Amino acid sequence: MKRVLLVAAVVLASCPALAEYNVYWGDVHGHTAISDGKGSLDDYFTHARDVSGLDFVIVTDHDFGNAAPWRMPKEAWSLTQEKADQYTVDGKFVAVAGYEWTSQPKYWTEVGKDTPSERLFPGPPKFYNHKNVYVPTRVDYLFSAKEPVCMSPDLLAEAVRKAGGLIHNNHPSAGPDGRDQWDYAPASSSVIVNTEMYPDTLFYQGKTYQVDMEKTVRSFLDRGGRTGFVGGTDTHEGKPAARTAVLAGQLTREAVFEALRHRRNYAISNARIVLSVKLNDHYMGEEIEIEGKPHLAVEVQGTDLIREVAIVRDGSILHSVDPGSQVAKLQYVDEGFRGESYYYVRVTQVDTDQHGNPSRAWSSPIWGKAKRFREVAGGAAEGVLFPLLHRPPRPSPPSPSSPASPAPSSGTPQAAPPDPFLSARSATVT
Ligand SMILES: [Zn+2]
Ligand SMILES: [Zn+2]
Repeated sequence: MKRVLLVAAVVLASCPALAEYNVYWGDVHGHTAISDGKGSLDDYFTHARDVSGLDFVIVTDHDFGNAAPWRMPKEAWSLTQEKADQYTVDGKFVAVAGYEWTSQPKYWTEVGKDTPSERLFPGPPKFYNHKNVYVPTRVDYLFSAKEPVCMSPDLLAEAVRKAGGLIHNNHPSAGPDGRDQWDYAPASSSVIVNTEMYPDTLFYQGKTYQVDMEKTVRSFLDRGGRTGFVGGTDTHEGKPAARTAVLAGQLTREAVFEALRHRRNYAISNARIVLSVKLNDHYMGEEIEIEGKPHLAVEVQGTDLIREVAIVRDGSILHSVDPGSQVAKLQYVDEGFRGESYYYVRVTQVDTDQHGNPSRAWSSPIWGKAKRFREVAGGAAEGVLFPLLHRPPRPSPPSPSSPASPAPSSGTPQAAPPDPFLSARSATVT
């Protein structure tokens, strides 16, 4: 078992958000011979535990497949849950039963000669893409994409919420097949918590899912969407590998769920890059109120030389450095804070995988909103916000929970600390 202890970059003993977490490595997406993969559940879990040395793994066979009328037998779902329980040993290895909600346009109508209609629902076809569903305790029933009560992301989220489970958006696509993948209400984001950044399915049997998933996910974030980032092999060879890191206090199924539910996780594409990102002492995945300026603290423990640490804000690179070392620490204050922004960090190393792609890590975003936005502007138009934020300190507001001055709190530096790399540059993310 491999664990790495992350220590907060800035320590304030009284702040509970600065508790220490372990980094646990896992894979959140993979198939067995139950659907269209190879090998048994035993093969899958033993490979994850003994060959890949994972701390946790989720198995996600399809609920429905292409070979109509194939569907996952009830017995297979029961066995999946039984095996996940058998392989889970607190403190050593966590196995989770899940499945892939496999929505397909042919459930609405005929969409082409190669995809014959299995019309179940009225109206034009929906391109919801696939979503992984996983639950902490046994449920008898699959919330499947072919059931009217679970046929849309919102309906699925409502059903899974009641079962205490979570959902991930799989292999996001910028093409027509992903047209409706983000079509769900903001409230469903508390169940549809994460999105795959980089599944290995890109290389599976010549499939051509859009490669730049980061760009696709970012467009959702730019529209105000909320999602964390995970990675999954989507292995069909029964060979799960480390693609997701969660920050959790201990290695139990409950703790892994708790981390994923709060998006306290990040995606990796290959190497096990250890990444800590905090915004004003809050962990990745959080939505916070900010007094003063946003202060990002980034720590990277790479496995090879790091060639870029990029802070992305609202769709563009805000700041990036080329450390040229295996370990990097970066402190950055966003002096141009616009009152409401999301931030995430992307790390790129010099090493590559077998396909020639560099090892990368993507932190889940952190959403920051100026505390004074609500108190001062009262929800007024954004155009009013910016001048207000730059006004001199105001008199004390009536509420003790509303600080009198916009001066930074003790945990918020007033000026940017020295940047050890001094090679900042701005660019549009590609
Ligand atoms: Zn899929
Ligand atoms: Zn899959």
